[in-house]
Amino acid sequence: VDKSGIVSYKKKPTSELMAAIQLGIGQSVGGLSSKPERDVLMQDFGVVEVVFFPGEGSNLTPAHHYSDFRFKTYAPVAFRYFRDLFGIQPDDFMLSLCDEPLKELSNPGASGSIFYLTQDDEFIIKTVQHKEADFLQKLLPGYFLNISQNKRTLLPKFYGLYCYQNEVWLKGTTRKHATKDDKKQCGGKNIRFTVMNNLLPSTVKLHEKYDMKGSTYKRKASKHERSKSSPTLKDLDFMDNHPDGLQLDKDTYDALIKTLQRDCRVLESFKIMDYSLLVGIYNLDLANKEKQQQAQHQSNDQFDRGGRGYPPHSDTRNVGRNSLQRGKSFKTRIGQYSTPMESIQGNTDLTEDLEEDEDVPSDFNTPHWLSSSHVSDCPGGIPARNAKGERLLIYLGIIDILQSFRLKKRLEHTMKSIVIDGDTISVHRPSYYAQRFLQYHATRVFRKTPTPLKHSPSKKK
Ligand code: ATP
Ligand code: CA
Ligand code: CA
Repeated sequence: VDKSGIVSYKKKPTSELMAAIQLGIGQSVGGLSSKPERDVLMQDFGVVEVVFFPGEGSNLTPAHHYSDFRFKTYAPVAFRYFRDLFGIQPDDFMLSLCDEPLKELSNPGASGSIFYLTQDDEFIIKTVQHKEADFLQKLLPGYFLNISQNKRTLLPKFYGLYCYQNEVWLKGTTRKHATKDDKKQCGGKNIRFTVMNNLLPSTVKLHEKYDMKGSTYKRKASKHERSKSSPTLKDLDFMDNHPDGLQLDKDTYDALIKTLQRDCRVLESFKIMDYSLLVGIYNLDLANKEKQQQAQHQSNDQFDRGGRGYPPHSDTRNVGRNSLQRGKSFKTRIGQYSTPMESIQGNTDLTEDLEEDEDVPSDFNTPHWLSSSHVSDCPGGIPARNAKGERLLIYLGIIDILQSFRLKKRLEHTMKSIVIDGDTISVHRPSYYAQRFLQYHATRVFRKTPTPLKHSPSKKK
């Protein structure tokens, strides 16, 4: 952020970056529709498609007011297959990403990545480092193998990998006159980014948010982070706030832990480390109290403001827009394509659900309170309780998986910071990381409710 308050990334104002990203994705996804659907071949993973976007426009690209740029799409056919696997239609993908301005999120991470969120809350764009993009490219075949075998997963869902490259020419040269050498000398800036699933609803205010690794070293949110209105807290904060953890009924607990185990096995097999479990908590009882207090304190002026900024209040404008534009009859929910509940229990009868039951996705052990009407503010979360017995809905997923041990090791070598014999620990570190991560979440964060919660009949009105 510079003096005038303009946010930039790699010296590029983010508003321009955002617009270019939207143009690029629109062209890339739109252009694919002319290519017939077919099975993914191994070589599709290595393909990089490059399209030039001159300001004056071209027969492939629209005119725009920004600097000329190149837009690269990695493995377009493979990602198309992947989006299809998750039920994302090309039109919906473009509508979400390209039709309306993106929202920029403040990133509590240290890496300096930029995060954008689509208006409908479905997709997150995250800028990644060169090495991370390379790693994702190498990961793709194995990742696809896993995802197509196992849709019950909390691993991040990558829907696309792209690169924005702006043209930089020597002073006094224009594109027409520049030679290849001019370009080499100046180089273009590469900004790589992925499109992923958003895990946390933004139209309802979550009461707590944690980014946890199962480690205690430096795992406390900074003062600065904690002063934010919706801070992302860490492991030590969680243990302070929830010394008894969060209680899930047996079936849900088992489904969740089993999912995490399978996911960690995959991550370990790729020697991936430093990932986190992102956990958002929506406290229904607290939400009801807040609602009542608000109703008391503020009379009916809330209607003038259209309910904006009222936690927790589902964004009805969004609901209308989505159902209208997409011609779908169900309500907006976090993860239209997969909710946390579906991620751990599978979503085989997803479409059936949506037609028959608009409020709550059915699942095999919904506690009775989940059918109450206020849950429709925040559907799809995993039902749980805190130590006080308050009813919670949990949103979660594994994030930040593009750090492979091999990259890290190289970094450590160059920094000459290896304390223990590099080779012996190299084999064990990802496995140690996964074990600790699992152990922590299976014992400290999530616990089985001692007495099972009451079950309701699986079909609701
Ligand atoms: P670092 O490497 O320093 O940990 P990073 O820039 O790689 O940070 P992440 O760790 O991926 O960033 O994410 C940082 C924060 O962004 C998370 O703690 C979370 O609050 C938010 N975030 C990341 N991915 C998602 C997602 N898919 N859905 C919702 N929020 C997300
Ligand atoms: Ca991280
Ligand atoms: Ca990271």
